[in-house]
Amino acid sequence: MPMFYYYFDPTYSLVLIGVLICLLASARVNSVFARYSRVRSRSGMTGKEAAERILRMNGIYDVRVVHIPGNLTDHYNPGKKTLGLSDTVYNSSSVAAIGVAAHECGHAVQHSVGYAPLSIRGALVPVANFGSAISWPLILIGLLMNGEMSALLINLGILLFFAAVLFQIVTLPVEFNASGRAVKVLESSGMLYPDEVGAVKKVLRAAALTYVAGAASAILQLLRLMIIGGRRNNNE
Ligand SMILES: [Zn+2]
Repeated sequence: MPMFYYYFDPTYSLVLIGVLICLLASARVNSVFARYSRVRSRSGMTGKEAAERILRMNGIYDVRVVHIPGNLTDHYNPGKKTLGLSDTVYNSSSVAAIGVAAHECGHAVQHSVGYAPLSIRGALVPVANFGSAISWPLILIGLLMNGEMSALLINLGILLFFAAVLFQIVTLPVEFNASGRAVKVLESSGMLYPDEVGAVKKVLRAAALTYVAGAASAILQLLRLMIIGGRRNNNE
């Protein structure tokens, strides 16, 4: 296989499509979040207050709500049992802030009730990290080798990358479920008015799309690796 093959690799367009999808989803969540960050909730409660209230309503008393830096960096840490809310959420009383805070509480509730996809996702983290770090080096070494060793390394690389793809796919039910719990609790508790819940739904739907884009992009990359691997096998 001549070297220029790598530089003019047409399968690279699959990677570019993935990048484009992710950029669009990210731009969308940023604009929807910014729009509803300017809409103050009528209750006037902050993201922090909303989170603490939802946690208590679910009988969770051992999770600390903490202020973390960044924009849309909000997350629940199951190891430390902390619920990190970012600058635009922690002290903000916007409907977007309350929606994001409620979503992160959804993850804390998943953890406390032993929601299976969350456990599976947690178990996949080290495998996915290892897989995404080592798959490309293995495939590149495999492409430079000949015979059985080459096929073995390429197939192993593809298998490891598959672990990373699986992680992205398992993330989807975890994220959809957390948002579902958020909307339900904000609706049933009366913490937000129905029109405010409608705004929260838009914010969380836009956020969910970034995870769908991430999974789609990972699948496209896997497809590319399979094409490269298959082409190599055919050439031999
Ligand atoms: Zn989430």
